[in-house]
Amino acid sequence: MSSNPLCSPLATASPAEREAQQLARLRPMMAQLLQSNPFYQAKLAEAGIASLEGLTSLASLCELPFTTKEEIVADQMGHPPFGSNLTFPLEQYSKVHQTSGTMGLPLRWLDTADSWAWWGECWKQVFRAAGIGAGDRIFFAFSFGPFIGFWSGWEGAEQVGALAISGGSYASLQRLHLLLELQATVLVGTPSYLLHLAEMARREGLDLRQGHLRALVVAGEPGGSIPNTRAQLESVWGAKVYDHAGSTEVGAFAFSCEFQQLHLNEAEFIAEVLLSDGDEPAEQGELVLTNLGRVGSPLLRYRTGDLVHLVRATCRCGCAYARLAGGILGRADDMIIVRGINVFPSAIENIVREHTGLGEFLIEVSRRDEIDTLRLLLEMDEDSSARLAFDISRTIGAQLMLNVSVIPVTPGSLPRWETKARRVRDLRE
Ligand SMILES: [Zn+2]
Repeated sequence: MSSNPLCSPLATASPAEREAQQLARLRPMMAQLLQSNPFYQAKLAEAGIASLEGLTSLASLCELPFTTKEEIVADQMGHPPFGSNLTFPLEQYSKVHQTSGTMGLPLRWLDTADSWAWWGECWKQVFRAAGIGAGDRIFFAFSFGPFIGFWSGWEGAEQVGALAISGGSYASLQRLHLLLELQATVLVGTPSYLLHLAEMARREGLDLRQGHLRALVVAGEPGGSIPNTRAQLESVWGAKVYDHAGSTEVGAFAFSCEFQQLHLNEAEFIAEVLLSDGDEPAEQGELVLTNLGRVGSPLLRYRTGDLVHLVRATCRCGCAYARLAGGILGRADDMIIVRGINVFPSAIENIVREHTGLGEFLIEVSRRDEIDTLRLLLEMDEDSSARLAFDISRTIGAQLMLNVSVIPVTPGSLPRWETKARRVRDLRE
């Protein structure tokens, strides 16, 4: 690949230059919102902000109020079906998508032609950083329904000049045959779904390591940055994993470089990190994002619910954008508290994926006699189950200080997820 893997000159600019550029994008967007976006007009008025006067540096961003998912949900319920976070008249919007709805009612999101092209630009950065471009054949293991999922990746594939192949409504086995027959070089999907596909290929006797596939671009779950899940994906597919992070609400905000570090795309987003229960800036905490290229349906200081550890030091790849060390560490709403200990499903996933040949898993929390109990239902073959269950339970005890019963279940019996996996069942309420 001859093209520069870092799409914007800001990736190697000094912090001062980058911040100046971010501010130069933020100010006209804010001016537009104050003029014609009912949601932000009301919100900013409530915060006493009527002009751009106070917005003279990025440091003054903290004068602006946060935006929360709850506010957006309430706004869409109050102004169905699209809410009032719209800067332009409805006829200027050309795409509508929604969230996966795994956490309740789906949120709807409209894009203009410009903001959709911006989504594609962000994905272009994801693909370029992974060395993907003209000559590549990108297979999307995704059903292309109303959930935004990889629709924007599809747009990005076109922008980098690759051949895009839709797995569309195909069943998993058909997808496997299609991606092998068409000699896909890149596979896009969620980590758990790609593991599921590989498991199916093994059962069907299909050889995945034919030499065509060289990159897996994964998103939707932390798996791409969980060391053991990543190693397992790379081993079964014979291809390198590039993690990516994004969401329906804010856009495609992070990409992986050749060193598999997850970078925030600071050409298009302003990032802050907050302690989970307060307003203080921190290195580790909740990621707060402002997107700069989605003026028609923007978010200012949006509390993403993603927990991250932000590192500000130039990466070996030459990129000076902040890195999310260890990827998305978890979601605030995924975290479970068991007997006072904070548990992230991703930590358990890392232990489970130390072992090969295991299928899906499900974490079940219940309360008996006022005591929380944790069960880990884990798909495994019967002949190895007693020993493995014991080993995994012991490792979780040692590494996470948790007492957990590992219950072997029949392979294929737990739910499969093509979009974000939901692996916690809390029975305590
Ligand atoms: Zn890097």
